Amino acid sequence: MKLTRRSWAEPFKIKVVEPLKMTTKEYRLRAIKEAGYNTFLLRSEDVYIDLLTDSGTSAMSDYQWAGMMLGDEAYAGSKNYYHLEDAVRKYYGFKYLVPTHQGRGAEHIISKILIKPGDYIPGNMYFTTTRLHQELAGGTFVDVIIDEAHDAENEYPFKGNIDLNKLETLVKKVGAKKIPYISVAATVNMAGGQPISMENIRQVKAFCDKHGIKMWCDATRAVENAYFIKVREKGYQNKSIEEILREFCSYFEGIWVSAKKDCLVNIGGFLATRNKKVFEEARNLVVVYEGLHTYGGLAGRDMEAMARGIEEMVQFDHIKARIGQVEYLGNKLIKARIPIVKPIGGHAIFINAKKFLPHIPQIQFPAQTLAAEIYIDSGVRAMERGIVSAGRNKETGDHNYPKLELVRLTIPRRVYTQAHMDVTFESIVEVYNRRKEIKGLKMVYEPKYLRFFQARFEPLK
Ligand SMILES: *Cc1c(COP(=O)(O)O)cnc(C)c1O
Repeated sequence: MKLTRRSWAEPFKIKVVEPLKMTTKEYRLRAIKEAGYNTFLLRSEDVYIDLLTDSGTSAMSDYQWAGMMLGDEAYAGSKNYYHLEDAVRKYYGFKYLVPTHQGRGAEHIISKILIKPGDYIPGNMYFTTTRLHQELAGGTFVDVIIDEAHDAENEYPFKGNIDLNKLETLVKKVGAKKIPYISVAATVNMAGGQPISMENIRQVKAFCDKHGIKMWCDATRAVENAYFIKVREKGYQNKSIEEILREFCSYFEGIWVSAKKDCLVNIGGFLATRNKKVFEEARNLVVVYEGLHTYGGLAGRDMEAMARGIEEMVQFDHIKARIGQVEYLGNKLIKARIPIVKPIGGHAIFINAKKFLPHIPQIQFPAQTLAAEIYIDSGVRAMERGIVSAGRNKETGDHNYPKLELVRLTIPRRVYTQAHMDVTFESIVEVYNRRKEIKGLKMVYEPKYLRFFQARFEPLK
C-alpha cells in the first residue's frame, strides 16, 4: 500500500479517565426544554461531548497535578506566586505580575486604572467581558478591526488585524487624549479565533507611539496567535513559539490573561506589565477586589499549576496538536459543505448559522436554535455567538445585530480524541440534512448583563 499522507496523533497518553453518561433523544429533549433552550443552562452531566467552551476545561498534565501537591497555602508570599512570576517573566517578558481569580478580574482592575469616564477604547472586535468592564469604567468601546473579520467567508489569514484607517479616524474624531490605550486581542475569539500578524502589531505600535497611545493586550490566546504567526507569516517559520510570544508581548505596556485558556489550568488569570506605576496601582486594587497581591483569589496550588501550564503551552508539539485537532474537525465540515467561518480558527469551529438556517431571521435567534438542535441530536454541547451574545445597544436599548451569527464548537485542550470529533461531525451533518424543518425561538427571559449566560427561550410554533 502506498501512503499519500502520514497521520499524526495526540502527543500524550491517557492516565485517568472520566466516564460519560449516554442519554436518549427523548431525555435530551426534556433537558434542553428545562434549560430554556440555552446550552449554558444544561447540567454538564447531561452532556456527552462538551464543546461549550475551552475555558477552564483543559486536562492538566501529570506534571501540573504533581505541582498541585506542592501548593504553599500561606496567606502572603506563597512560593508558588514566585514560580508564577518567574514563568510570566520568562515566557511573556513582563517584570511585574498581579494574579487574579480569572481573566475578568484582571480586566476589571486594568479598566478601573486606565479608563476615565468619557474615554474611548479602540479594539479589534469586542470580547464580552472585556467590553463590559471598559463600559462599566465609563469608557466607550470602538471596533477597529479590519472589515474582513466581519465576513465569515473571507479567507484572509490574519482577520484579527487592526485597520489603521479606522484607528486614525477615531483619533481625529475624539483626540488621542481621550484614548487611554488600544485594547488588542490575540487571537480574536468573536471573529472566529482569528490571529493578528506581527507586522500589523508593529504598524499599530508605530501609530500609537506617534500619538502617545498605550498598547495593552488581551493575551488570553496569544500562544495560539503565535502558532499562526509561525505557520502563516513570512520570516517566522524558523522561530520557536516561545520566541514569537516574547516578541509579540514586547510591543505592549502590559497584558491581561485568562489562564483558563492557553495556560492549561482550570482556574486563574493575571495582569502583567512593565510599567511600575500601573503595577503599583493594580497591586493595590487587587487587594480590594480579589485578594492579597501574592494570590489574587487563587490557591497556591492553582498558581503552581499555572506556572507549569505556561511552560507546557509553548511546546510546539502541544500547540500543533491542539490546533491540528480543531483543523481536523473543521476540514471535515468544509468537505461536507457545512458553512463555517474560514480560515479555521485556533480554538473552535464557528458554524455560520445565518447560512445554515437561512429561513430563520436573526430576531428568531438562528444560532441559539442551532446549538439547541445539535444538543438534541447527539448530546454535543455548543454555544451561541450571535445576536444573544451581542446584547443591547447602550443608547437605543435595541438588540445589537452583529453581522456574524455563529454557533461555536469549542475544543477543550487535551480532553477529547479524534473519535469524539468524528461523532461531532456526524451530528452536525445529521442536523444539516433536516435543517428545513427547524423553527426559531423567542426569548422569554432576559437578564441585564451578559444575557447569553442566563437568557431563556421557547420554540416558535
Ligand atoms: C475567556 C476570556 C476572557 C475572560 O476571562 P475569564 O477567565 O473567563 O474571566 C477575556 N478575554 C478573552 C479573549 C477570553 O477568551
